[in-house]
Amino acid sequence: MSERSPFPADFLDAAGLNRQHVFELSALPDELRATLGDTAGFDQLIMIGHGGRRLWECVQASGIGGEHPIDDYCQQTVGRWFADCLPGVRFRIVYPGETPVGLQALGKLAGWHHASPFMVGIDGEWGSWFAYRAVVLANSRFWPFFAAHRSNPCLTCPDQPCITACPAEAMADGQFSLPRCAGHRLQAGSDCAYGCQARQACPVGTEHRYDEAQIRHSYSRSLAMLQKYLASKPASDTQ
Ligand code: SF4
Ligand code: SF4
Repeated sequence: MSERSPFPADFLDAAGLNRQHVFELSALPDELRATLGDTAGFDQLIMIGHGGRRLWECVQASGIGGEHPIDDYCQQTVGRWFADCLPGVRFRIVYPGETPVGLQALGKLAGWHHASPFMVGIDGEWGSWFAYRAVVLANSRFWPFFAAHRSNPCLTCPDQPCITACPAEAMADGQFSLPRCAGHRLQAGSDCAYGCQARQACPVGTEHRYDEAQIRHSYSRSLAMLQKYLASKPASDTQ
């Protein structure tokens, strides 16, 4: 069996994909491994994310357009990373894609994810301004990663301004109400159509807050998914 090697992060960091975590497939819980599809022939799972603004700047600089510029950029970048830095290593991108990968469950194992009141993951360094961008099966032999040990900032947040900032009072009852949030976002001229006021009000990691254009892009996609979901439901389900 080949020697373990250090993880070549520089290429990904420079490309805005500046959060990475390597899992041994054999160490993952069975139910999580089952979300990955056929893993035969692979030893490791590489989770790649971004934190802050650099990824969006790189996507813009790449000139990639279309409906899913971030996903397309990330897939192309991961392909180039393997070609340039890991020749001979076999890989398969399972996210983005059709495979229902348990992203938040992986994020919890890596120490990236803590639950926030508005249901977006949060951590003490990046606030909520990070996201999962690619999950890749590989027959690599990197040294294992340790989970990041950062506590949930919500547990020591005295005023919880995210809760009062929500115009739909979606968190007012002590848990997140998706119907209230979605109902508000879908109203004509909604002030939450292209951004979340609760997320904007959080004081953690504000130096990493996304560019306005990125926020608008992300929320226009989730709004379109909400509209599509609503259109697919029978009228009796949407009363
Ligand atoms: S405002 Fe406070 S409670 Fe709300 S997400 Fe931020 S840290 Fe958590
Ligand atoms: S998108 Fe708007 S309605 Fe939904 S949680 Fe955020 S602030 Fe509240």
